[in-house]
Amino acid sequence: MPDKVKTNKDICGDYGPCKKTFIKNFGELTGEWYFISATPVRKCNDNEGIVSDIIQGIDITTYNGSVIENDDGKGNKNTLSAKIQNVISQLEEKTFIVAIYDNKSLAFKGQPLAICIDPLITFIDFPYHPHLNAAGKIYDTFIPPTICYTDNPENLGNLFGDRIYDAMHYITIWLYRHQIFEVFYSTYGDIKWIGLEVKDRLDNHVFVNQLNPFGDCHCGSGTKYVSCCLNKDMIANLRLNAKGKKIDSNLIKYDPLILKKKWERNYLSEQNRVVNRLLREFNKLK
Ligand SMILES: [Zn+2]
Repeated sequence: MPDKVKTNKDICGDYGPCKKTFIKNFGELTGEWYFISATPVRKCNDNEGIVSDIIQGIDITTYNGSVIENDDGKGNKNTLSAKIQNVISQLEEKTFIVAIYDNKSLAFKGQPLAICIDPLITFIDFPYHPHLNAAGKIYDTFIPPTICYTDNPENLGNLFGDRIYDAMHYITIWLYRHQIFEVFYSTYGDIKWIGLEVKDRLDNHVFVNQLNPFGDCHCGSGTKYVSCCLNKDMIANLRLNAKGKKIDSNLIKYDPLILKKKWERNYLSEQNRVVNRLLREFNKLK
């Protein structure tokens, strides 16, 4: 196995359930990948304390893919709403397999890319996800929606001395917040992302190219996208491309069936190809 990159840390030795491999012939994603199994929620932990800390932006600790309480946790539990307390009481221990690409190119500012492959966390299962990066392309290579785990990729490496290791820490916390979001949505039908960065949602026009027109809308209404925000988003998208010029109202007319076909070809099948390859590579390591 090629191992050209020397880091001063034995990441897979340090980080419990972690495996590393080199993936060949994978377009711009060719290179070193880490697969981690994270179980962010541990029921034995003080989850009310952890959630309080996250909400108040207090640093929290992770260990081998689980969020653990701080000895000096300062979060004030009294500020937790009854809804959040109810959600916390319903949290289950769940394991997530995350594939992390040791991206060293300028694309995505060199930030390691993280894709949750099992269970899949993309806009297919969560069209209304409040904190996923949109899918994109590096040259001809499709990059599925990635975990939006840090706003400051340039700071990676400062915490534990290695950017991949730091990424794993933030990814674990992101998954913990994802679990809160999932239970909150299934219980109350509302989109809730705890902690800081709550306003960092994708712009509405971005969803035109990300979502199945006949799937759920991104606003969380539970209505099909085509019957909810799609039209509004199409107009926003056209406005952006028109750069201040008047938009031809004929352009707003579109056939949702054709849009769906386009989405299946350019998005769904591309995403499946990348995710299935990652799953195969992960299974080879077992
Ligand atoms: Zn909507």
